[in-house]
Amino acid sequence: MILGMVGWRGMVGSVLMGRMLEENDFAYVDKTIFFSTSAAGAKAPDVRGADPVLRDATSVEELAKCDVIISCQGGDYTKEVHPKLRAAGWDGYWIDAASALRMQDNAVIILDPVNRPVIDASLDKGIKDYIGGNCTVSLMLIALDGLIKADLVEWVSSMTYQAASGAGAKNMRELLSQMGYLHAAVSDELSDPRSAILDIDRKVSEAFTKPDFPKAAFGAPLAGSLIPWIDKDLGNGQSREEWKGGAEANKILGLPAHGEPGSMIVEGLCVRVGSMRCHSQALTIKLKKDISCEEIEKLLDNSNQWAYVVPNRKEESIEELSPAKISGTRMIPIGRIRKLAMGPEYISAFTVGDQLLWGAAEPLRRMLRILVERN
Ligand code: NAP
Repeated sequence: MILGMVGWRGMVGSVLMGRMLEENDFAYVDKTIFFSTSAAGAKAPDVRGADPVLRDATSVEELAKCDVIISCQGGDYTKEVHPKLRAAGWDGYWIDAASALRMQDNAVIILDPVNRPVIDASLDKGIKDYIGGNCTVSLMLIALDGLIKADLVEWVSSMTYQAASGAGAKNMRELLSQMGYLHAAVSDELSDPRSAILDIDRKVSEAFTKPDFPKAAFGAPLAGSLIPWIDKDLGNGQSREEWKGGAEANKILGLPAHGEPGSMIVEGLCVRVGSMRCHSQALTIKLKKDISCEEIEKLLDNSNQWAYVVPNRKEESIEELSPAKISGTRMIPIGRIRKLAMGPEYISAFTVGDQLLWGAAEPLRRMLRILVERN
């Protein structure tokens, strides 16, 4: 099997490369060809069995030599290259981090701990395009896997607290620049324990409005603030990120389209906060029947090896349900589980996950391993 890697040096691509090296994935293919849109002919990464030279990522001829292509290059690249490759008769497997092909009929959204049967059935049918899901949706589905597999979820409302990394590398840098700018604006006052907090606060508020306050990437303050809109405005009061919740979750689960009979309703508001790379979500869930919190916790805890239940107590919640703690790991804690005043079928939950791992890179490398396993 010849593997093509496109977009391997970007943010998602670098996380993917790290995980593939950790798991020795390159040893399971005969050869890897690395591609570039900007540096064809330069030296490729030094991994086992790799072609030593970077190939042109826009060359259909070079790409067509691969049996499997993993792309983390972005949606514009996919829209440009994928149709040309298919039109040229290439029938290899295309695995992609970009959203461009996600909702197409002949594409499957991959999240194998949750939808391995959907993936297997699609491979049996000869489907060749396998696309990573939206980060927030993937993290929510892994966290709720136990309840979903037990067919207990009538609907979910997800209020998100999404990290800067979801918007890209330059946004992560801008968040830190904003933090630094705000700190610099009040560093003298901070070093004086007798300074008045309202003076500090006023100076911070003024700093947000200064012409050199760094906000080119986000277009608004994120540090010391938040941004209550993520992705495009669909013109109906909903953001595209919010639309993805229902649309993608049902496609991943192999259910009827969102809103159709038999689908799982997913609604909510998506909000950007000053977290670096972990998305958090506050969930309100309507269950199909009244079961105890103990049973709910057992189902969630036993569903897959990454989701685990945090007891709904202050100390454990602060310690475990924390982007600072979960960043860089594949664990997806879920806690704050309790029955709500609306009725015995209504529960709350809070979950946290690294959006660059399960939210982006991990499903892609695991899809490669599924192909290797079935080859
Ligand atoms: P990115 O960091 O901007 O990388 C994309 C490409 O930019 C790289 O492959 C590289 O291509 C080029 N590039 C130009 N200058 C670079 C530099 N200084 N360092 C590294 N690469 C540079 O994009 P990304 O955030 O990883 O996103 C890739 C795709 O994954 C997008 O479709 C995105 O929507 C999707 N995705 C992102 C996330 C996320 O959280 N960010 C999550 C899920 C899916 P060449 O090597 O060919 O020049």
